[in-house]
Amino acid sequence: MLLKLRILSLLLLLCLVLTACQTKPPVATTAPIEPNCAHADQNDDGLCDDCTANVVIVIDFYAINDLHGKLSDTASQPGVDELTTYLKKAKQTDDHVILLSAGDMWQGTSESNLTEGNLITDWMNQLDFAAMTLGNHEFDWGEDAIEDNAELADFPFLAINIYDRDTNQLVDYCQPSVIVECGGAQIGIIGAIGDCYSSISAEQTGGIYFKTGSELTHLVKEESKKLREQGVDFIVYMLHDGAAGISGSTITDRQLSSFYDISLSDGFVDLVFEGHTHNSYLLTDSKGVHHLQGGGDNKGITHVEISVNIANQNRDIRESEVVSTGEYASLPDDPVVEELLDKYASQIAPADRVVGTINHYIGQREAQQLVADLYYDAGVERWGDKYDIVLGGGFISIRSPKHLPAGEVTYGQLQALFPFDNELVLCSVSGRNLRDEQSLCLLHQLRPVRRGRAEKYRPECDVLHHCRYVYVHLCAQWSDGDRAI
Ligand SMILES: [Zn+2]
Ligand SMILES: [Zn+2]
Repeated sequence: MLLKLRILSLLLLLCLVLTACQTKPPVATTAPIEPNCAHADQNDDGLCDDCTANVVIVIDFYAINDLHGKLSDTASQPGVDELTTYLKKAKQTDDHVILLSAGDMWQGTSESNLTEGNLITDWMNQLDFAAMTLGNHEFDWGEDAIEDNAELADFPFLAINIYDRDTNQLVDYCQPSVIVECGGAQIGIIGAIGDCYSSISAEQTGGIYFKTGSELTHLVKEESKKLREQGVDFIVYMLHDGAAGISGSTITDRQLSSFYDISLSDGFVDLVFEGHTHNSYLLTDSKGVHHLQGGGDNKGITHVEISVNIANQNRDIRESEVVSTGEYASLPDDPVVEELLDKYASQIAPADRVVGTINHYIGQREAQQLVADLYYDAGVERWGDKYDIVLGGGFISIRSPKHLPAGEVTYGQLQALFPFDNELVLCSVSGRNLRDEQSLCLLHQLRPVRRGRAEKYRPECDVLHHCRYVYVHLCAQWSDGDRAI
């Protein structure tokens, strides 16, 4: 790259656990759990052979992934006010509830973006989340924002595999795992970010790296052994990565292998909550371990009820489900969202600013085309029209709710469609690089975008959310791979 000029973010341009616990009665209860008894249950009748206490604990996990800041109701989806009611109700009727998040919670709406995630973290505090795995989008505003949120959070951020390049140590704003004590049971939760390093802006990841593949498997196994040695009864693995395009209820080892090593299901982890791919599923792997993901963007959450025998470590999945928005969208609003919006009112005020009016419904295709044109116009305005080819990168695809209704358009609506703080960059690329798929990835997935024609985008490699839109002046033939252009 010979010349690199940046302009303001796309959006400026567009202006145009620990939980209280009570035991369900899975088996006869004859006595409360006696803390001083070591507990044994050799005949596996759910009662301690010595003190006769019920040693089977039933625990309900609720996990959210990829909320992407969807705090407020919109015309196309409910906000978290109804979800809050749903989760609070679950806690009222069952004290053995553990709330978890598999990452990508913050980036995606003005309310969340303008507070750099604080508002969502605050909401998670109100609900007593036990832990959250860091997702790639938690890095969108840099590590300082993660540290700031870590300070605000009443729960730990988890990721066993985010390492500091200088020290070769785990970064200090997250931890590999946490043990949550619930009703006498010890629940170990291990967090990991998937192999999505390349989907984070290089600027934000210069000082860190992710251990993936066999290195990650090794880390998780070691952590699992450590947790079991500490007396943990059940291990949840919370991974910011997951399956895509899987139908049915089972997943083969091969399908899993892109994000999960099946050997972890040999007793190292007992349940896996996933994220990142925004898919909705409940899958059982070849060793019987359940993998769940709730869709993302508040389209649903996942729920698993387990029982653990704390005397002999027998464990069972009693219920496992994806709870879709429809199951909670008609519940009354919990006031917590309004209270949080009030609390952060001054920071999020720009979201309500009306930036224009449209006289017809704008669907996904039209919106994307408008953006492609906008990139072009902004580039021409900045650098002149001698750069006759515009290469857009990364994620021109718009985000949920993917459309704009007719009428006044607010900054907040636009930011929900294009939440990423993209920049326009002018650079030169060699013809060879343009033709080389690998390099295209490195160059943040360039693709031709000409005025009036946003070409269909089919990524060949990992989709990049954070990208730089690149203007390239092609003065050499594409066939001449050696010449810089
Ligand atoms: Zn996501
Ligand atoms: Zn993600």
